Amino acid sequence: MKIKNTKSLCPECGKTLDAEVFSEDGKVLIKKTCDEHGEFVNTYWGDYELYKRAEKFTPSITSVENPSVEDMTSCPDNCGLCSKHETSTVLGLIDVTNRCNLRCPVCFANAAAAGYKYEPSQDEIRQMLKNLRNLKPHPCLAIQYAGGEPTVRKDIVELVEMAKEEGFTHVQIATNGLRLARKEQLAKDLKAAGCNTIYLAFDGVTPEPYINNRGKDLLPYKLDAIENCRKAGLGVVLVPTLIKGINDHQVGEIIKFAFDNNDIVYGVNFQPVSFAGRTPADEVEEQRITISDFVEIIEDETDGQVPTDSFYPPSFVEPIAEVISRLNGEDSAKVTLNCHQHCGIATYVFRQKTEGDGKDKLIPITDFIDVEDLFDKLTEYNEKLERGKFGSHKRVLAGLTGNLPKMVHPSRTPEDLDIVKILLNVFAKGDYDALGAFSKDAMLISCMHFMDPFNFDVDRVKKCVIHYATPDGRIIPFCTMNSKYRQGVEQKFAQPLRQK
Ligand code: SF4
Ligand code: SF4
Repeated sequence: MKIKNTKSLCPECGKTLDAEVFSEDGKVLIKKTCDEHGEFVNTYWGDYELYKRAEKFTPSITSVENPSVEDMTSCPDNCGLCSKHETSTVLGLIDVTNRCNLRCPVCFANAAAAGYKYEPSQDEIRQMLKNLRNLKPHPCLAIQYAGGEPTVRKDIVELVEMAKEEGFTHVQIATNGLRLARKEQLAKDLKAAGCNTIYLAFDGVTPEPYINNRGKDLLPYKLDAIENCRKAGLGVVLVPTLIKGINDHQVGEIIKFAFDNNDIVYGVNFQPVSFAGRTPADEVEEQRITISDFVEIIEDETDGQVPTDSFYPPSFVEPIAEVISRLNGEDSAKVTLNCHQHCGIATYVFRQKTEGDGKDKLIPITDFIDVEDLFDKLTEYNEKLERGKFGSHKRVLAGLTGNLPKMVHPSRTPEDLDIVKILLNVFAKGDYDALGAFSKDAMLISCMHFMDPFNFDVDRVKKCVIHYATPDGRIIPFCTMNSKYRQGVEQKFAQPLRQK
């Protein structure tokens, strides 16, 4: 059954093609035909019912007031950002080098294979930071340095300082952790410079996934890197690249590991592997893990404690930020997570020892809060606040105070968690510190399924919230950068390798 028409890419030549998304045998597929390279049919979401459930949470649309490109062609042929883009930049990315101290077969940037060095100067990086901060109406607040391996740059600490100088409130570094493992002082220096999070590639809790994904056993380095972050008080998010048959059976163990280290690890962001156009189509289908496969794996791996319906697309939480901002005197939220409903999925999970056998029990937030009722109420309150009638502020606060307790189930709430009090503090005072009590025990479990030319859908990139800044002044959505633009951008600024 046809679901929608969209546009996609030819995995062989990269040409933009008309495409159709449709359901068949309980799955969602995407098909397109290239005049030169024939028909491609690929899995888009592994489960039609879960696809439909996510479809209900269509995000808001925010337009960029100062696009660099007045769109004259069709998406994604003129990124920049263009005037057709439908979201602000929630996370800015800058590749600070394509050099790396590893040679991973699954790497996006594939640094060593490129045959050239791509490494923007400090001046170029400062300009890219400024370009992200100049976006209107929502200047970008969060930046991630990526690569290659960002920590091979000797000036990485200065680059963190530079991001803070330019006004970024959140700075994170995507890393394989090797240098952090070897140099205890690096974690301390990064922390002192203002780095908020280490976004650590972490494929599993045994040597095998590393040997398969990265070519060697890196587990000891990961453990040392986490230890050095702990000593520095530098927060860590674990980032497993999921590949079917390689580490999908370790999802439960990875979550357990995260909880065992929750003094310093506050989230796990699973990323199903995406494929370069040159991968044979049948191999892509064999190894593909979609978001619906991921939530089914989690349900299975946690013996049903974290079921598929405890997960929601990130856009689901949009009303929270809106209500907090309006109650605290702003017209709208500074950041809104309005990425496409089929790009990602997330939930908060708590862990508690059970009485009796003393075993660990995982409790997703949806077990003890009626989240859909809460968000319906918040949407209603937002409308009231937006209309701004006399007394609406007071009435909304009174409504929250009266209604929140009705949506919480105390008998199912983790011990010592006064969730009603925490939420009221956050809403009424904009007191994000109040969330500390919540995040101390909660683990954010999320999954973003980056696209590749096989499953590329322009509807999703138009609503992409993760954007690369490039040295030519453009700002390019992540999945278009990796499926279409990366080589061109890097080659334009490439230096011969011998200049290393
Ligand atoms: S992805 Fe966004 S910026 Fe790029 S062409 Fe499409 S709408 Fe424009
Ligand atoms: S990076 Fe890709 S998967 Fe993530 S929001 Fe952007 S388009 Fe969607």
